[in-house]
Amino acid sequence: MNKWDFYTTNEIKPAGWLRRQLEIQAKGLSGNLDKIWPDIRNSAWIGGDKEGWERVPYWLDGFIPLAYLLENDDMIARAKKYIDAILASQKTDGWICPCADNERKTYDTWAVQLIAKTLTVYYQCSGDERIPDVIYNVLKNYHNMLKSGEITLFDWGKARWFEAFIAINFIYERCKEDWLKDLARILKDQGLDYNEATALWKRPLNRWRFDTHIVNIGMMLKSEAVSCGMLNEEYTDNAEKLHKILTEHNGTPVGIFTGDECLSGLSPVQGTELCAVAEQMYSYEHLFAATGESKWAERLEMLAFNALPATISDDMWTHQYDQLSNQIACEKFPAKPIFRTNGGESHLFGLEPNYGCCTANFNQAWPKLALSAFMHNGDTVINALLIPAELKTANEHIILETNYPFENSFKYTVEVKEAITFKIRIPSFAKNLTVNGETTDEKELSFDLIAGEKLEINVAFDATPEFIDRPHGLKSVKCGSLVFSVPIKHEKKMLEYERDGVERKFPYCDYELIPVSDWNYAYSSNLLEVIKNGVAEVPFSSVNPPVMIKAGVKKIDWGYEDGYDTVCAKIPESREPMGDEEEVLLYPYGCAKLRMTEIPKI
Ligand SMILES: [Zn+2]
Repeated sequence: MNKWDFYTTNEIKPAGWLRRQLEIQAKGLSGNLDKIWPDIRNSAWIGGDKEGWERVPYWLDGFIPLAYLLENDDMIARAKKYIDAILASQKTDGWICPCADNERKTYDTWAVQLIAKTLTVYYQCSGDERIPDVIYNVLKNYHNMLKSGEITLFDWGKARWFEAFIAINFIYERCKEDWLKDLARILKDQGLDYNEATALWKRPLNRWRFDTHIVNIGMMLKSEAVSCGMLNEEYTDNAEKLHKILTEHNGTPVGIFTGDECLSGLSPVQGTELCAVAEQMYSYEHLFAATGESKWAERLEMLAFNALPATISDDMWTHQYDQLSNQIACEKFPAKPIFRTNGGESHLFGLEPNYGCCTANFNQAWPKLALSAFMHNGDTVINALLIPAELKTANEHIILETNYPFENSFKYTVEVKEAITFKIRIPSFAKNLTVNGETTDEKELSFDLIAGEKLEINVAFDATPEFIDRPHGLKSVKCGSLVFSVPIKHEKKMLEYERDGVERKFPYCDYELIPVSDWNYAYSSNLLEVIKNGVAEVPFSSVNPPVMIKAGVKKIDWGYEDGYDTVCAKIPESREPMGDEEEVLLYPYGCAKLRMTEIPKI
């Protein structure tokens, strides 16, 4: 059993900056993909002739909770139109994916796992009572076909076998039928065992493989947490063991792993695919829910407040395929890209740079983060993530007002009908913690409320900026859950064009970012002074960041990576200062679209 259960979109509502972020998303690409992108607009899932595999379920997986969190009737109606079409196409034996009967053997059933998960999300949001039977029949048919040998797992379905467990767990809770446990066992037995691939993670290659694929790995981290119950296996915290290897050999300052698009080592000029950010966040949400261990929530915050906003434009119309920690330019590579297996446009901000998976899949990241703000177990409620949100159930009404992670004060208003215990998770970096003005050093606050009680709780703590050691003798600056970078001023070059029948037109065009300021710095003093600006309309604004850090730097002869003039050298060629100390204002990594995040300290 999970330590904590999730609430639904009927119970949690985003507030403050988080609501504004979701509203920007709804006005941007996520909220309009069905109008502008052929693979959604004319998908085979709804009777069209375009992609009929992962893209519609990926998009719905984020679009649906976004629509319900914002109570946007137009988006809810558009989601239902897709769901109705998908339900109408289900065959009498339960098969639901858009392929001819004689093609099932060669159809990669990753899409079966994904649509079952997406339908589960739809049920949790809409309460549509048609859905449980539909998922039951999808899984029953999947079990029949796998058990009989009519189909087997291969490629993505084999690599992502655990993705089916969101739906399996949901249906098992309702019917408790043993064939679901048999299906769980078949999936694990036929699925990829990532424990056998860890030797490959320690020496990344310019070679595309399923078992070093960064999105598969992001998804896989939750596999034990979501599957051990159905498999009657003991939970061993295997994710921690794998996380340690990944961090040691492919880590970045913001908690993602390099993968462009398979594991890429410790270089600040190797990228990470956006799908991996979204999936790793989702894994950490499940790992926290399963274990209640704060480390997973803290790691989730690092991704959500740094890696996610960094790789999507302020208006949320464009995104990168790959983000880099030291990213001095986002310009097309005229010849061989820096990436190990990705194309030369992977770091541009655009509609579908390199490949369209992220276009459909990044939509889930912010909505599912919002849904993880509060969790519950029996009559205990926890504020798992310190993000501005409101919880309203039949029994409790909790409002959290805060500008965290940009500021560290929190006002809770808690009102209950029946008695509950209310807990607040405090981050490990918090210093000088006060609760209603009283100092405490608890790592989890706990309040017992009696029936009918209304309580106001004011929490505050400090977060101190600090230098963090990185490989190659480099340093990054971190303050609380935010990582800071030297921002690089840039010009945007808009690219409007059509390729393979897909139109790029403002606001869903591509952009190259061309640097116009210096980037070749080393930290040269211990000065780290936090400057708070207040949170603007765009929370992670690239022009008006909510918080900055003043630091002392000196120019060095950093140099370029061999063969490139738009990629800095992986390690600076010289650490000798070339001039006097200058003061720079560091931006949050998520606000700095061009940036230097890992630099020497001299
Ligand atoms: Zn992707």
